[in-house]
Amino acid sequence: MTQICFICREKEKLGDTEMKTIQTLNGEVRIHTTCFATFKSLIKVTLEEIKEVFPQTPISQFIKVIDEKAVLVRRDWSAYSIPILAYLDYRNEPVIPSEVYTWLTENEVKITNPSQYVKELIRKGHLGVIKKEGDRRIFITDTGRKYLMDVSEEG
Ligand SMILES: [Zn+2]
Repeated sequence: MTQICFICREKEKLGDTEMKTIQTLNGEVRIHTTCFATFKSLIKVTLEEIKEVFPQTPISQFIKVIDEKAVLVRRDWSAYSIPILAYLDYRNEPVIPSEVYTWLTENEVKITNPSQYVKELIRKGHLGVIKKEGDRRIFITDTGRKYLMDVSEEG
């Protein structure tokens, strides 16, 4: 049975193994692996553009976005790690630690040594570390998000 590529509408060549099947809600589609790679890149760029238009929505109740700024609206947290996790959840991408420290200061969270809390969160697996463009950046992990949500709902 001849199959047509979902993207380029070209037929699958006889003996062509460079095609993949993707399950969809309405059945399945066949796509050349090269066409799929192009499609993936397009989606990636599209999502990045959309992210710039629509600001992040924080999952926890600790932060509200007011005038496009992340504002710490709850002060009932018991540990300094909470606002750090809340901010990184809001940012939803790896950031330079100093950005987090600046944000804490802006929101009047007075921590004398915030890097010790970041270190502790990395040790617990709540934060991950990645090198990007020569910088060491931190991001929230799924474990960290789950912990933040549990704490958020307690209040
Ligand atoms: Zn194709």
